[in-house]
Amino acid sequence: MLRDRLQRVLRDLRISVTDRCNFRCSYCMPHDDYEWSPREEILRYEEIARLAGIFVSLGVRRIHLTGGEPLLRHDLFRLVEMLALITELEDLSLTTNGTLLSVSRARELKRAGLKRVNVSLDSLRPERFRRMTRWGELGAVLSGIDAAREAGLQPIKLNMVVIRGVNDDEIVDLFEFARREGHQIRFIEYMDVGGAQEWSLERTVTRREILERLAAHVDFDREGRSRRDAPAREYPLADEGGRFGVVSSVSDPFCSGCSRGRLTADGRFVTCLFAHDGHDLRTPMREGRDDADLRQRIASTWSNRDDRYSEERLKAIASGRIGELPGQAKLRMIQLGG
Ligand code: SAM
Ligand code: SF4
Ligand code: SF4
Repeated sequence: MLRDRLQRVLRDLRISVTDRCNFRCSYCMPHDDYEWSPREEILRYEEIARLAGIFVSLGVRRIHLTGGEPLLRHDLFRLVEMLALITELEDLSLTTNGTLLSVSRARELKRAGLKRVNVSLDSLRPERFRRMTRWGELGAVLSGIDAAREAGLQPIKLNMVVIRGVNDDEIVDLFEFARREGHQIRFIEYMDVGGAQEWSLERTVTRREILERLAAHVDFDREGRSRRDAPAREYPLADEGGRFGVVSSVSDPFCSGCSRGRLTADGRFVTCLFAHDGHDLRTPMREGRDDADLRQRIASTWSNRDDRYSEERLKAIASGRIGELPGQAKLRMIQLGG
């Protein structure tokens, strides 16, 4: 098993299939003008599938497709079909903003072998939703969520990024919506990822606060539980089968169990969500290097990994040095896919 310098294994791979998006969420893409990666630099499906196979041979067991908005790629089901052929994979999922998820598209993805979807949903109020995503329309996202259910892409996980003064008054509403619709919800602390120029610590609503707001509304196990390598801590409800999750990258980081690698749309292998660059796999692949060569590159990149940005951020917060953290030179969220 492949281990990094802090003894963490490589288990999960998030693949960003495009850096383009049809939204401009204020916490992810606060500007209007973006220079997209040129088309020829974006990996073809065959190239992604080849790299995925090599990653799996090194221990990856869960693959997550993301972006930008992954459903902007044509015939994404073809990539899913290729990945679904990798028998060692235990999970194959997709994170989307949901707008391009028609019933026929959701069925196509399901038939191709996709197991489940995560949909981002930050507000249930149409105007606010539009303000937060800037280009998004709430109705289209809700239809997308219904389409995923109709196609059997379940369980559906809803992701809500909680931002103080923006949507933190909707925590209970979103919780209730998910409960009523039979979906799982995860509340995500607003993070200083690359591209989040509007981030500030004051705007992050911490896990403790999120739990307090929910505790005033519903009974749940306040201790919660977490899988060592899962970012979300899960909180089972007291009197029914449901649960919700909280991803607390800012107030309680999980770097010590982080088993996640990321592949950018242009073929860079990145070992941390807050990294400044990645290891280019596209160039050697297109120069004709064989699988053993690429495998070696991935293995040595992971073996040298010592990333623990969120833990360092927490230390900086505790000692009042938050301003000294590296700023926007980080790779952008749309390149890494969350
Ligand atoms: N476009 C798809 C979507 O929005 O679901 C997939 C890519 S998006 C970058 C993946 C996830 O990152 C989304 O759930 C989004 O809410 C989350 N995200 C983006 N910026 C964030 C930030 N500053 N803090 C926390 N989560 C963020
Ligand atoms: Fe696009 Fe997703 Fe980023 Fe929103 S969070 S701008 S939908 S990539
Ligand atoms: Fe993993 Fe980096 Fe996030 Fe820590 S900060 S949990 S190492 S991605």
